Amino acid sequence: MIIILLGPPGAGKGTQAQKIQNSHGLVQLSTGDMLRAAVAAGTEVGKKAKDFMEAGKLVTDEIVVGIIADRIEEDDCKQGFLLDGFPRTVAQAEALDKMLDQKALILGAVVEMKVDDEALVDRITGRYTCADCNQGYHEVNLKPKVDGVCDNCGSTNFNRRADDNRKTVSSRLETYHAQTAPLLPYYEAKGVLKTVDGMADIDDVSAQIKDVLSALA
Ligand code: ADP
Ligand code: AMP
Repeated sequence: MIIILLGPPGAGKGTQAQKIQNSHGLVQLSTGDMLRAAVAAGTEVGKKAKDFMEAGKLVTDEIVVGIIADRIEEDDCKQGFLLDGFPRTVAQAEALDKMLDQKALILGAVVEMKVDDEALVDRITGRYTCADCNQGYHEVNLKPKVDGVCDNCGSTNFNRRADDNRKTVSSRLETYHAQTAPLLPYYEAKGVLKTVDGMADIDDVSAQIKDVLSALA
């Protein structure tokens, strides 16, 4: 099964992808996570991506399409995958269509997670992750069960993203509306777009996505 989670920054794509990865055995492919790893490792891709990411702009289509093309060749993608943060432009969507066609793979669904812009600012500025296993948390909405200890791996080290600040958030939201929102009519026309209410609480959103996936199976 191949699924795309589509929505603005902070909509909950990563949160839901982590849950679906566990429940449905679909590997999560987050271009944001891959790019942050490249920046941290100081690779050529990371050097090219860093300034765009810090400014809340999109990295070039060429870079992200290349990253995804390589990644889906790996063995853990054979059972299907869940795209989180890719595609983000119509050119990326067209490149993905070509890659899937070449491998005779079918896109199961594009799940649009609809969230108001005002809620996104609070979600993004309150977000943090475990530095060791990348489990996502939120200062108010999703705290670890034991304060300061990761539920998943027991680590006491947490990270905040360099781009999760108020200034960059507005640029990221503008970028979403200008460059990524046109993917909604693109996938609607292909008959694969399914919309869920991303304003609902985390478990409710999971249940809505589960219903979409069950209807495909
Ligand atoms: P995205 O991957 O779409 O950028 P995340 O999954 O990282 O978004 O979610 C952004 C923040 O909002 C995280 O801190 C997460 O814990 C929180 N969050 C995710 N889904 C919800 C929800 N349905 N209600 C409230 N907070 C949420
Ligand atoms: P994310 O973790 O999905 O919020 O992505 C963080 C940042 O990485 C974005 O603001 C972009 O700068 C970059 N990025 C991630 N995915 C893509 C993509 N598909 N196309 C272009 N840039 C991307």
